[in-house]
Amino acid sequence: MVHPNKTYRIGDVTVTKIEEMRLNVAPPSFLYPAWEPEQLEPNLHWLTPSNMDATTGNLIQSIHTWLVRAPHHTILIDTGSGNDKERPQNQIFHHLNTPYLQRLAAVGVRPEEVDYVLHTHLHVDHVGWNTRLVDRRWVPTFPNARHVFARAEEDYYGGPDSHNEVNVPSLGVFEDSVAPIIASGQAERISNDGGEYLDNFVFRPTKGHSIGHMSIELHSKGQAALFTGDVMHHPLQVVRPDWNSVFCEWQDEARASRRWVLEQGAERNLLLFTPHFAETSAGYVTSQGDRFSWRYE
Ligand SMILES: [Zn+2]
Repeated sequence: MVHPNKTYRIGDVTVTKIEEMRLNVAPPSFLYPAWEPEQLEPNLHWLTPSNMDATTGNLIQSIHTWLVRAPHHTILIDTGSGNDKERPQNQIFHHLNTPYLQRLAAVGVRPEEVDYVLHTHLHVDHVGWNTRLVDRRWVPTFPNARHVFARAEEDYYGGPDSHNEVNVPSLGVFEDSVAPIIASGQAERISNDGGEYLDNFVFRPTKGHSIGHMSIELHSKGQAALFTGDVMHHPLQVVRPDWNSVFCEWQDEARASRRWVLEQGAERNLLLFTPHFAETSAGYVTSQGDRFSWRYE
């Protein structure tokens, strides 16, 4: 089921989720190696039904992108998993055929109208729609877009070091989804220290889940929001920020970045746009002492 598009307003910018797919395949013990069955009971009051499938006990997640419409630009934050990709090691992403572009069209955006794609990182489910298969070749889906990502992401995922055990789902991803947009001259690398971008964005380094991971702050007319990227995969990590997902590559940095995002979110009352929470995928963090809680918006 596709959640109806809800549009958020941050100053004179709007943000809309474009869903690619909804997942309920991951038992918490898979997604979180630190998971202990005793954790279920005290969290059950908020885990069902929108965050956990009551029948299977699997966590419910979403894969989607965020469409940002600014006065002068049409921007996507990340690009999901893409269609037709060869991902034999990971059936979730293998030979997909989702109506993602039709959903983008349904909110009035044609691929040619996207002029920026800002990437939090270059993992399999964040770069997929960069390209689509045309006459057996991977061609840019958004022909007029600049794709922006941290230099460290390209340095690492473009080389053989990244093809390791942890990162098996990313095998082939750089080749079919990133290399073609570099070849077409559409890639723009930014400093690993982040920084301001366009009128409304600040790249904030949140290394850990990936080597050059960025959270992306959006601000307009005194209001602010944060596209968190994969510092969290499910609201369970708001409650347990010490838990890394099975896909986090640099463990200590991932925990530190998660805590930083939660503290920023709570202190500055930032609207957080997550890439994998279910429901609306957006919400607020509040803190009580050193504990955090999550509320969908
Ligand atoms: Zn992801």
